[in-house]
Amino acid sequence: MEQFMRLFRRRPDPNIEFQALRKKLRGSLVPSGLEGSRKFLPAPEVATLVTTETVRSVLPHDTPPKIIDFICSHAAKLFLTLVVGGEADPAQLASVLGACQKHGMADTLLPIEQMACIGRFTECHSKHDDALNVFHDEVWADISFRFHDDQGMFQSPVFTRDQFIYELKEGCVLPITWRSRHENDGHFSTVYEALIHRLHHDEHVPQQVRSE
Ligand SMILES: [Zn+2]
Repeated sequence: MEQFMRLFRRRPDPNIEFQALRKKLRGSLVPSGLEGSRKFLPAPEVATLVTTETVRSVLPHDTPPKIIDFICSHAAKLFLTLVVGGEADPAQLASVLGACQKHGMADTLLPIEQMACIGRFTECHSKHDDALNVFHDEVWADISFRFHDDQGMFQSPVFTRDQFIYELKEGCVLPITWRSRHENDGHFSTVYEALIHRLHHDEHVPQQVRSE
């Protein structure tokens, strides 16, 4: 009886699951008070959105488990950048992320710079990390433009009490929810008050982790 039930239980449609995840992801983005219409994903949301179960549901049923493991362990932000862009369907998504797994293209290499060799428009002009060779595939000719703009939403820093200088990654959206219009200008800088999103400073994040 159990086998009978299993035989006729309908597996979720990856296309429908993909659209549901995309909608949930877009609903989790927070507008930056500093940068006009740009948005960012609060850091803890990455682990909430990218689970083995969710990744499995949005990819074709025959996707190898090693690709799903790679996404969850090393490429969650890469995966979310592709999902929010919505320019790769589930089959393309599995193919692209499978290639990333083979090349070792993971979150640690994000954000990627604009490269003329993406989609093999031209030969590589400068030497880059071997893992970035994955972007030579022609599939990236269609999805790279959105990808390059969208990747900054997932690179917002978490500020800690004992670090005073931050080297921000190119294009990252600052997790600021409000800024004062009153500015003080100095010789080399402009100073103003701003509020950091509650999940992007260390007073809150460790408490969240402890309470879970
Ligand atoms: Zn190249």
